[in-house]
Amino acid sequence: MSEATPAPAELLLRLRRFHSNYFPLHQQRFQDLVADGQHPKTLFIGCSDSRLVPYLLTGAGPGELFIVRNVGAFVPPYDGSHGLHGTTAAIEYAVLNLHVERIIVCGHSHCGAIRAAYDGVPDEARALQAWLKLAQEALLPVQSSPEALLRTEQRSVVLQLERLMDYPMVRREVEAGRLTLHGWHYVIEDGEIHVFDAQKAGFVPASTASNSGTGPYQPYVEYDGQAFTVPEEDLP
Ligand SMILES: [Zn+2]
Repeated sequence: MSEATPAPAELLLRLRRFHSNYFPLHQQRFQDLVADGQHPKTLFIGCSDSRLVPYLLTGAGPGELFIVRNVGAFVPPYDGSHGLHGTTAAIEYAVLNLHVERIIVCGHSHCGAIRAAYDGVPDEARALQAWLKLAQEALLPVQSSPEALLRTEQRSVVLQLERLMDYPMVRREVEAGRLTLHGWHYVIEDGEIHVFDAQKAGFVPASTASNSGTGPYQPYVEYDGQAFTVPEEDLP
């Protein structure tokens, strides 16, 4: 067991600490959320990476984020089938039941999923192999390098936003102006989110951005196309 993994006794101590230290300070909030139900305005689709901490990044508290996380922060294609599609179910629930006002897709630097999409995974990891195909269209025709990986992480975020627009209920709400899509790329070592700006067809650091990100909408289809066309001179 690595040093970063708390021993069971340590985990138990942490549970007790939550109950005795944190909960009393926020008891009313939790009880209101039970009495009134949850009404989160945001669906956060994030990578499972342990270094991505949505509550820290957004300053959100209980009841504010409806979260689904998976390896790579990928959005499966909407195929209308009745398979056990956990991420798809979460998207449907967030849009149709919770009526969220925004969906954030959040990738990050040094993403193991994106690296594995280039380098491969053990043969035994068959589900993972199939899952990583959801990043296939974002891959660059180059060897994996730090620059290529970062670009691919960002391209993957945009790809997932595009795929979200194939969900009938997402497209309907976006076109009605009741839902916005936001693509984020979190650079762990800088402590900064870069937000996708569809008009600029690129990612802008949150410290200088004018908004928290605009997803692909109908008027910007051409720009999205450009985002996926990497000029040859830009290739590492
Ligand atoms: Zn990741």
